[in-house]
Amino acid sequence: MDVQLLPSSLPAGDAQFLVSFLVDGSVAIDAGSLGLMADLERQRRVRHVFLTHEHIDHVATLPIFLENVYEPGPECVEILAAPEVLDFVHHDIFNGRVWPDFFELSAGDDRFVRGTPLTIGRTIERAGLAITPLAVSHGVDTLGYLVDDGRTAVAFPSDTGPTEDFWRHVAAAPRLAAVFLEVSFPDSLAELAAATGHHCPATFAAEIRKLDRPVRWIVVHRKPRYAAAIAAELATLRLPGVELVVPGTTYHF
Ligand SMILES: [Zn+2]
Ligand SMILES: [Zn+2]
Repeated sequence: MDVQLLPSSLPAGDAQFLVSFLVDGSVAIDAGSLGLMADLERQRRVRHVFLTHEHIDHVATLPIFLENVYEPGPECVEILAAPEVLDFVHHDIFNGRVWPDFFELSAGDDRFVRGTPLTIGRTIERAGLAITPLAVSHGVDTLGYLVDDGRTAVAFPSDTGPTEDFWRHVAAAPRLAAVFLEVSFPDSLAELAAATGHHCPATFAAEIRKLDRPVRWIVVHRKPRYAAAIAAELATLRLPGVELVVPGTTYHF
């Protein structure tokens, strides 16, 4: 399985402002920077977009992406998300004011998009991948995803603070190779992290002990103004298997 966190800073660097993972080139998890890929052919190859939640860093370029890849005809991109998130996307973004109502415009044979509601714990197959939505613990209802291609599995817990069900499910998954886990705040802002459903290095360290097996822990979602402090605090902890994500790098698992 190939996984890339799409870059979201200009010129492309390690600062992460937005969230979009590309899996095997055809499945996206979140659409923060999806519509910014300069290579339009790469955008057109993405046919399924799984959303974790409606926060703007995760959906920011969804309208731009759908505009970029539209072609006349019945074939269109599929957005998969919790029913409430599909509703937010439709009525708060594609509402005819912020952006045209692509859902309404997709009623006939000419389609921009179709929405597929997900059920927590129910695995769905797309593009050769078995993808399981699982609840995590963020300020709003949020789904993490476990993605399995039959040879290897990778976990994407999205934005979350300390959580339980997700790890219980992931711990039972065979062939888990890596987890892309967030650390948003430094330890000095632990209270803010707890109040907003995010991790700081201390809670991250406690969290990875819930998965009693050796996997790659790839740190994502460092808020840019705290990125250096978070990196320094994580380095002090000397946690095994932990590395900082490099946006734009293709990870092969
Ligand atoms: Zn969020
Ligand atoms: Zn976020």
